[in-house]
Amino acid sequence: MKNRIAVYPGTFDPITNGHLDIIERGLKLFDGLIVAIAESHVKEPLFTVDERIKMVREAVKKYKNVKVESFDCLLIDYLHKKNANIILRGLRVISDFEYEFQMALTNRKLAPEIETTFMMTAEGYSYLSSRFIKEIARLGGRFDCFVPPHVAKMVKEKF
Ligand code: ADP
Repeated sequence: MKNRIAVYPGTFDPITNGHLDIIERGLKLFDGLIVAIAESHVKEPLFTVDERIKMVREAVKKYKNVKVESFDCLLIDYLHKKNANIILRGLRVISDFEYEFQMALTNRKLAPEIETTFMMTAEGYSYLSSRFIKEIARLGGRFDCFVPPHVAKMVKEKF
C-alpha cells in the first residue's frame, strides 16, 4: 500500500484553532499532510507568506507527518509537482459550501485524477475564521482562545 499524502491548501492568514483541528483530524485519515500556504495576492493578506510559513510551522511542530510549504501557482499544478492526488479542505457553515463545491468541480475538470476531500468542522469552530480574528484584533477585542499563543502574539504585533 502506498503512503497517502494529502495537501491542505489555504491562506492561513492567520492559522486558527479551526485549521489545526482539520489538520489533527486529517492525520487520522492520511499518512501525511502538506499544509500548502497560498500566496493569495488577491486577498491582500495581513501576513507575508514567510510570516505565515513561520507561524504555521510553529503551530504544527508537534506533528511528525506534517510539512509546511508555500505555493504560487495553480493548486493542481502544485499537487502534480508534489506527486500528490488528494486535496483536503474544511467545511464550516453552508456559505462555505458553494465556493468549495465550485472549486472542487473546477479542479476535477482540470485534473480528474485529483480528489478533493472535506472534513466537517468541529462544532466549536464552526463560526471561526481568519477574517474574524483580524476584525476582532483591529477593534481591540480578545481573540486568544481562537488561535495558538504565538499566533495571538504575532497578530497583536500587527495592530
Ligand atoms: P482559503 O483562502 O483557501 O479559503 P483559509 O485559510 O481561509 O483559506 O481556509 C483554508 C481551509 O480551511 C478552507 O477549506 C476552509 O474552509 C478551512 N477552514 C477555515 N477555518 C475553518 C474552521 N474554523 N473549521 C474548519 N475548517 C476551516
